[in-house]
Amino acid sequence: MRRHHALVLGGAGFVGSHLCDRLLARGDTVYCFDNLETGRLENIAHLDDHERFVFVRGDVVVPFQFPVDRIYNLACPASPPRYQVDPVKTTLTSVLGTLNALRLGARSGARVFFASTSEVYGDPEVHPQPEVYRGCVNTVGPRACYDEGKRCAESLMTDFARQHGVEIRIARIFNTYGPRMDPADGRIVSNFITQALCSEDLTVYGDGTQTRSFCYVDDLIDGIVALMDHPTFSEPVNLGNPDEFTVLALADLVRELTRSECGLVFGPLPEDDPKLRRPVVDRARDLIGFRPKVKLREGLERTIEYFEAQLEAELSGSGRRLFGQRHRPGRRAATGT
Ligand code: NAD
Ligand code: UDP
Repeated sequence: MRRHHALVLGGAGFVGSHLCDRLLARGDTVYCFDNLETGRLENIAHLDDHERFVFVRGDVVVPFQFPVDRIYNLACPASPPRYQVDPVKTTLTSVLGTLNALRLGARSGARVFFASTSEVYGDPEVHPQPEVYRGCVNTVGPRACYDEGKRCAESLMTDFARQHGVEIRIARIFNTYGPRMDPADGRIVSNFITQALCSEDLTVYGDGTQTRSFCYVDDLIDGIVALMDHPTFSEPVNLGNPDEFTVLALADLVRELTRSECGLVFGPLPEDDPKLRRPVVDRARDLIGFRPKVKLREGLERTIEYFEAQLEAELSGSGRRLFGQRHRPGRRAATGT
């Protein structure tokens, strides 16, 4: 197999750091470019001495140059509380970051991958969501900075392919979880596990009947790498695990697996929070043989193990204070079970 020189934008983040590992393991040289806004040096610390790994701190909104033939653009905060901190920056990160990646692709002939999202479908009226569904996004809501930034980036990707002949690959990623998620970033899996490990009640937003389909990170990385390696396909491809769970079902599973006695505390459903989400993955299956293998129970066990180790390190004073800094949502009615 040909060895590539790859640039991973957002490579110190949760998904990006796993992608760096996978590319290095197959022999690629990896440049990891990240402003550490939501990423962490801990995620790539094990690569410090790797001879084919280079970390450069910087921001994708400013043009960049690297000697590469593959560009993976994952730079963007992914958790709603995080991407809503500075919504203007979030939009610019997606749009300008993708523009700069594509300009480098046009100059160098590098193939460009873009990490798009199930959020392009908004609060969907079609369930489950195939790639041909065009979505239902509120352009002026609190999630718009993320959703519309990603939608604009998809359109830039496609126009650079049409207008400038850049080779592109677009994945629409559905909720992904696993080790190296930031315990402080406010997403459901990290919130529930950290809360359970700290014997706090789990924060359920709304009535907990909304659904998500959770994909273990290793399965997602299989999909990203296979899609990037596909010789021609340039249209968007859903990547995710089609097994669908309610928020309440996830809460029960986390409580069982952590053997936690914690209850549930209900808070308001955030504005525009999608009520249902499940990918149709036929396109990915037919195109690249994508078949997620890791069941939620098994993936959660591995993720809980990771968070337990983080918590232990923090309690022993050898780890950074991550649990203590985590996102604490406002609480409304306490209804422990
Ligand atoms: P993450 O927040 O852990 O990683 C994002 C990385 O991008 C971080 O390391 C962050 O520091 C970096 N970054 C943010 N803005 C930047 C900028 N302006 N310049 C340089 N670096 C910047 O999130 P993640 O879960 O690893 O997500 C990775 C990508 O996948 C994101 O683009 C996200 O939108 C997409 N995605 C993730 C999921 C998911 O469930 N994890 C779902 C859909 C899409
Ligand atoms: N959620 C929740 N409790 C939390 C965090 C999230 O009930 O502590 C809900 C959230 O309202 C959404 C779902 O879990 O319905 C997934 O949220 P997340 O932020 O992980 O990702 P999203 O898919 O909304 O981007």
